[in-house]
Amino acid sequence: MKSDDPVTVLRGVGPRTAAALARLDVATVADLLLHLPSRYQDRTRFVPLAEARIGDACLVRGEIVKADLAHGGRSSLTATFTDGGGFLTMRLFHFSTHQRDQLRPGLWIRCFGEVRGGPAGREMVHPEYRTSRTEPEPPEPTLTPVYPVTSGLTSPRIRLWIGQALDAGAALGGSVLPDEPIPALDEALRFLHRPPANADESAFDAARERVAKDELLAHILLMQQRQALRARHTAGALPRGRGLGRELRRNLGFSLTAAQRRVVTEVLTDLEREQPMLRLLQGDVGSGKTVVAAFAAIRAAEQGRQTAVMAPTEILAEQHHESFSTWLSPLGIDVALVTGRMTAKERRVRRDALAGGETLVAVGTHALIQSTVEFDDLALAIVDEQHRFGVHQRMALRNKGRLPHQLVMTATPIPRTLTMALYADMDVSVIDELPPGRKPVVTRVMPNARRKDAMGRIAAACRQGRQAYWVCTLIEESEALDSQAAENVAAELTAELRGLRVGLVHGRLSGAERGAVMGRFKEGEVDVLVATTVIEVGVDVPNASLMVIENPERLGLAQLHQLRGRIGRGSAQSHCILLFEPPLSDIARARLAVMRETGDGFVIAEKDLELRGPGDVLGTRQTGQQSFRVADLMRDAPLLPGVIALGARLDDRTKATVLATWGTTVEAGYVEV
Ligand code: ADP
Ligand code: MG
Repeated sequence: MKSDDPVTVLRGVGPRTAAALARLDVATVADLLLHLPSRYQDRTRFVPLAEARIGDACLVRGEIVKADLAHGGRSSLTATFTDGGGFLTMRLFHFSTHQRDQLRPGLWIRCFGEVRGGPAGREMVHPEYRTSRTEPEPPEPTLTPVYPVTSGLTSPRIRLWIGQALDAGAALGGSVLPDEPIPALDEALRFLHRPPANADESAFDAARERVAKDELLAHILLMQQRQALRARHTAGALPRGRGLGRELRRNLGFSLTAAQRRVVTEVLTDLEREQPMLRLLQGDVGSGKTVVAAFAAIRAAEQGRQTAVMAPTEILAEQHHESFSTWLSPLGIDVALVTGRMTAKERRVRRDALAGGETLVAVGTHALIQSTVEFDDLALAIVDEQHRFGVHQRMALRNKGRLPHQLVMTATPIPRTLTMALYADMDVSVIDELPPGRKPVVTRVMPNARRKDAMGRIAAACRQGRQAYWVCTLIEESEALDSQAAENVAAELTAELRGLRVGLVHGRLSGAERGAVMGRFKEGEVDVLVATTVIEVGVDVPNASLMVIENPERLGLAQLHQLRGRIGRGSAQSHCILLFEPPLSDIARARLAVMRETGDGFVIAEKDLELRGPGDVLGTRQTGQQSFRVADLMRDAPLLPGVIALGARLDDRTKATVLATWGTTVEAGYVEV
């Protein structure tokens, strides 16, 4: 059996089962071998009945001394058995006539299950059991792995198939890590699937770590390979031109922070090279990433070449269009907005101007990467808030025309260790400083019972000429219900806060309707904006100084941080009220406390990572970004420096072996350049 054989080569795996396995990301025998147990059961020895304690999951055996069919409240079938030293009762609430007839005194029974306290002493309810005429066989020699499952699959079946594959000699080929006193990959996998009874905890850790290391190594090698591949392409150098950048700096009306200046230099230096840039620009909400992007676009425009700026929402695209127009139009650079909500005719005009090369900067949403939009000479692709985009979309833009330089911006602060792993193929710039004069937002956590107080605060802020947000968070995974909740709140606020103008944006409004309300809020014609989390990214209204977030316990910290970043942009002291619904779990309480205590996005991300794990921090589930099979970025982050160093020492042949070993798994989720 070869590791890249499809799972259907296994006995008992037909097309239906294969489809179920696919839901676990298991398509090949190799995938199956890498589907590791989440825990183990100890069935290696019979626990004497006298020692079986309540709460233990254990294997026991004995001779049946009494079998009973109890009626009354809930009828049940019981069989009490003894091993000479103690007694235990097995209880079944659901049973067949066959089972009823089968459980007779004098027979032996062997059970695996959890011991509980019952009406007549210790018992096991619905254990796995087997009867026999003679004393049962000695138990299994290895610990019994319990595998993660999905509907249509059970752990014992998965165990059977993995056993079959191991018995048939299936192996990953075992990449060889030099200088490592740890077992080879296949040995580690074999251990994890069939651990010996006497194995101690540290052996499990070592084996799992061995596999995780290999996966991280393969991942990093793959990224390095892609980076090398990219270096062989050319994007065209964008050298310094007519000094339009200097002109923008004079016109801005503010001076760049030191961090912005540093990052602009990093970006422009990249652009002066022939090779395509791939740079991740990280900066907290409000740190001023947009203007950095504008300097890059100017550099391309000076050479008569085009830039595409992609934003995740129409509102944000419009806002970027406004900023870019304000900054670039006075320099004679034409900026066009391309969104899905334009009429076909408008879009055609814009498209023609892009295809003809008259428009040098296009700002848009996903509409920009639709195949109908052609660029004459795309030199630079800027992707804002990249976590909102899937990898595929990112690549589609990158593939258009020549390989463009690419700048990816994100306000989601990613802890450094994770950056190393996830973006190993990118260069990273960080804006670690906010523009001067920003006051940290004061955050309070209140139970929903104090809703009226929160409304009072809104009334007070608006009386002083300020504006406020009221954010309704997702209650169900349904946009309809979500929007309904926002409508109810808007009605409630309109009734409670007489005289204030209440606006409403939610996902069920058309883009145009939403844009109109946002526009009125920006112009100060709306006092309180009730919104679902659609306002999350980018929206910039400096006069808004108060935000109430309902049910903050339902959101990730990163998302709360993003939301809160909408305020605190002007000169007034801003306040955020987190209006939670009691009771809170300990973790939820700890998380809200983090929000109260710090406004630093990186600290928040680290805490979020601690409290929830990387999948949630990065929103990988929504965006389909790469995730690991065995490696756990939170747990294994400390391994990364060693793995990177190891990768640097490997010769090409070993690298190829490592990559080939994980080829079917690591590459999933990537699109080739
Ligand atoms: P983000 O990094 O969240 O995308 P923006 O680019 O939207 O931040 O910038 C937030 C606001 O700060 C904008 O109104 C922008 O014009 C302003 N801004 C950016 N840089 C500076 C600066 N150096 N000094 C003052 N204001 C700035
Ligand atoms: Mg932004």
